[in-house]
Amino acid sequence: LRRPMVAANWKMDGSQQLANELFDKFKQLKDDSVEVVLCPPSIYLDSVQKLHEANREALSDCLVRLGGQNLSHHEFGAYTGEISGKMLKEFGCSYVIIGHSERRRMYGETSDIVADKFAMAQKVGLTPILCVGESLPAREANRTFEVIAGELDAVIKKHGTLAFDNAVIAYEPLWAIGTGKSATPEQAQEVHAYIRRRLSEVSPYIGENIRILYGGSVKASNAADLFAQPDVDGGLVGGASLNASEFTTLCRIA
Ligand code: 13P
Repeated sequence: LRRPMVAANWKMDGSQQLANELFDKFKQLKDDSVEVVLCPPSIYLDSVQKLHEANREALSDCLVRLGGQNLSHHEFGAYTGEISGKMLKEFGCSYVIIGHSERRRMYGETSDIVADKFAMAQKVGLTPILCVGESLPAREANRTFEVIAGELDAVIKKHGTLAFDNAVIAYEPLWAIGTGKSATPEQAQEVHAYIRRRLSEVSPYIGENIRILYGGSVKASNAADLFAQPDVDGGLVGGASLNASEFTTLCRIA
């Protein structure tokens, strides 16, 4: 029912060379049961879109889409250095990552701004991939659900639960990002089930259909167990997405 998704978040890494290698590998995938999403730094979107276009025939059996890593919550105007949702659309994006913990923590994105970005994405026709996740101190204080609920509620309060009708959620525990120490399949499943339950309370349809990705040190060696959990619909992958063969393996596993 829910098509699994594996999304590559290159963060401020990757290169044109990586894009070439990825598309070469994707030709061997021949499987459209999984949706593959590439989120390179925005300066590469143009060339990645062209590569995608050039390989359209060879990739006819697989589902590759593009996404941004961030967008401005403003529609247009005097915001030096920012990128609008409309621009992402113009360069072929279907998705945009919203509220990644690196943006929340290092660039001062409050839950309020994240909620605005979420709505802006939808306004221009992008599907937001909303990142939520607790810090290690929050987990140790048994506040995981509370933190996740707060991050979901910030969007729900502003835009209603129906806003999740066109969205993907990524559960990314902060302590698992870039640490090599992923959540256990049980830990991931517990939180994913909680997110689904919470959204189901307001809309059983959305709860049933929304895709919830796991992110945080996903790699070829742990993906099978994580992706096998009933409420884990794929992954949002950082480090391992920078290796074309490993990332393609993850797509196969999903
Ligand atoms: P890593 O896969 O490098 O842990 O990063 C996860 C992440 O933050 C994806 O958005």
